[in-house]
Amino acid sequence: MKEALYAVYGASGCGRGVMPLAREQLCRQGVAPDCLVFVDDAPVVPSINGQRVLAYGDFLAEQARERYIVLAIANNTVRRRLAARCAADGLRTWSLTAANVVVMDDVVIGEGGVLSPFVTITSNVRIGKHFHANLYSYVEHDCVIGDFVTFAPGVKCNGNVVIEDHAYIGTGAMLKQGKPGQPLVIGQGAVVGMGAVVTRDVPAGATVVGNPARIMNKD
Ligand code: UDP
Repeated sequence: MKEALYAVYGASGCGRGVMPLAREQLCRQGVAPDCLVFVDDAPVVPSINGQRVLAYGDFLAEQARERYIVLAIANNTVRRRLAARCAADGLRTWSLTAANVVVMDDVVIGEGGVLSPFVTITSNVRIGKHFHANLYSYVEHDCVIGDFVTFAPGVKCNGNVVIEDHAYIGTGAMLKQGKPGQPLVIGQGAVVGMGAVVTRDVPAGATVVGNPARIMNKD
């Protein structure tokens, strides 16, 4: 029986980007690569990029003393649902940080985070559970980020910004710096469109696009 099995949950675009981080992290820990698999609820092929793909039930059925899993699906509603399922099944939450990530002083990040290559997090930052920071994103000083927040590639999150749970920040979006005691706030579940320049607070649940970012009409 293996000591531990490790999985990247999601075998599509996000998962294939996360798998090399997982492999590299295990290599640094001296864990054999055959202890690492993809898990997917709709597996299409038996292996991807040299790693086995297992259905969730098959992952649970593999012989191992411990099981670690990282959620590699960009949709944060799906991540929340799968996190609850994995916790109920006794799986351990796994966090991944690319080797060249820069994390400065007094940064606290909750479980299950994925920090992709070239991410920088400066100082005095608080981040919740299952955060995804995709390639080249940064989080500047004094930001507070909730649970299940997703940054697509190249997000520029300047200082004193608060991002509430489940917000999604699109590729290349820029969030204007807030002030101490008067942060710029991205509300719960808000979506910031690709390339948006956000200069004022975004209400919970709103979708904003453009420069300066404005709420998108649904019709
Ligand atoms: N998926 C899953 N369980 C779920 C929802 C999604 O295993 O409850 C898998 C799905 O089968 C697919 C992947 O997650 O392989 C999501 O892929 P998609 O291309 O939609 O998104 P991304 O990889 O960009 O997050």
